[in-house]
Amino acid sequence: MTAKSGIDHVFIRGGRVLDGFADILIRDDTIVEVGKPQIPPDAKEIDARGKLLHPGLINAHMHGHGNLAKGMGDRWTLELLLTAGPWITGNRTLEDKYLGTLIGAAEMVLKGCTACYDLTVEFPAPSAEGLEAVGRAYREVGMRAVVAPMVADRTFFEAVPGLMEALPAALQKDVERLRLAPYRTTLESMRKALHGWKFDRGEVRPAVAPTIPLHCSDEFMLGCAELAREYGTGLHTHVAESKLQAVAGLRKYGKSLTAHMDALGLVGPNFTVAHGVWLDDEDMKHLGARGASVAHNPGSNMRLGSGIADMRRLLESGVNVGIGTDGANCSDNLNMYEAMRLASLASKVRGPDWQRWITTNEVLEAATAGSARALGFGDQLGRLAPGCQADIVFLDLANPNWIPLNNAVNALVHTEDGSAVHSVMVAGRMVLENRRLLNVDLAKLARDAESARERLERMNRDNKRLYERLEPIVGSFCPGLARAPLHINRYAAWP
Ligand SMILES: [Zn+2]
Repeated sequence: MTAKSGIDHVFIRGGRVLDGFADILIRDDTIVEVGKPQIPPDAKEIDARGKLLHPGLINAHMHGHGNLAKGMGDRWTLELLLTAGPWITGNRTLEDKYLGTLIGAAEMVLKGCTACYDLTVEFPAPSAEGLEAVGRAYREVGMRAVVAPMVADRTFFEAVPGLMEALPAALQKDVERLRLAPYRTTLESMRKALHGWKFDRGEVRPAVAPTIPLHCSDEFMLGCAELAREYGTGLHTHVAESKLQAVAGLRKYGKSLTAHMDALGLVGPNFTVAHGVWLDDEDMKHLGARGASVAHNPGSNMRLGSGIADMRRLLESGVNVGIGTDGANCSDNLNMYEAMRLASLASKVRGPDWQRWITTNEVLEAATAGSARALGFGDQLGRLAPGCQADIVFLDLANPNWIPLNNAVNALVHTEDGSAVHSVMVAGRMVLENRRLLNVDLAKLARDAESARERLERMNRDNKRLYERLEPIVGSFCPGLARAPLHINRYAAWP
């Protein structure tokens, strides 16, 4: 963020808000008044006539490392995506980790998003330097982030029951070398990073993300929960994202994945479930009773054929719901307007009972205040209201998306696609002004990313070949395992 210029007050004049017109007075990083505030003599004025102001959108689940793997796959299930991991994420340098994050941060700000929950990965274990490179990218762009090392102590092949045995001996040997660091090493390295955290936690804060329960031993999950308690951080896990996970979880633990994690003591107000497509009613009740969150990622769930999460039932169960895009390696863009639109449409494709469909108000609430709570920012973010942080998006009402403006919330969720974003403010400071990122040289970023891309393509050639040999086996074994009956169905069009 740019250095403070000595101006304490910012006065935003003449803008439209979601329910009318309002001037906004900001002091430092905080909104003081919305409506008809007096202008303090020292205030810097921003003319917002012809602009619609909305709270910065908050991406409750994404993966910064996915940005360098954008567009690498098409017909991937979650299990094929995980199989592709070494190919699309392998051999990353510290600079690559920074670059990948920077690409996503630039995209998110350009598309009206001011904070995100980034589950970032390093192989074979996270490092303090890697997490610092990621945090630095967010600080440079000027957006907020929760940076959570995504960790595991079992590979995908060790996690899926029977998969290793289904591989021919030669392939078994090849996937052996993907083995992750022992969990104690990973915990130690996370502790080091958490202990020496260099960023202001109001801007970039750490969290802990045991990636998928099946990929983590119980000892490891307990260690992650302990770290989160000790350092007061969030916990974030992919739970019941695909049907295979739900089936394999029942088989392995004799109970649902949520019940298993609850028994381990992980589920509480700082706990975020990513996806939760295959949660059942009991799971949702548990999550709601414990004050936990679900990050709903409808775009990724469609793209990977994971199914459609039941957002209505989640809300009814008292679960805090945020909205996310997921990583660019499985949902391609990080456009929160699109994620909102899909959250609305996905609820409608679940069935004809229109009164259970998610309203545009509910979607917007989830993508702002709901996501803010999932990130651990409580009610400091996600609203244009006194006492909240001044994270504000200015949309250009001369954009065709807004001609005419009949209902601002409906249009924000169903019509806006990011192309009307004119300016973005985070903590009272502009980070995007008149469609220009103030702190990022996009041309340089493109050059740096292209040379990283070329090098990674070369370095990961063997990993790509390994993927191609694994694809037919994983691609038939996993759907076979997932065919087992469950008492819920999250496939909209399938029996
Ligand atoms: Zn994810």
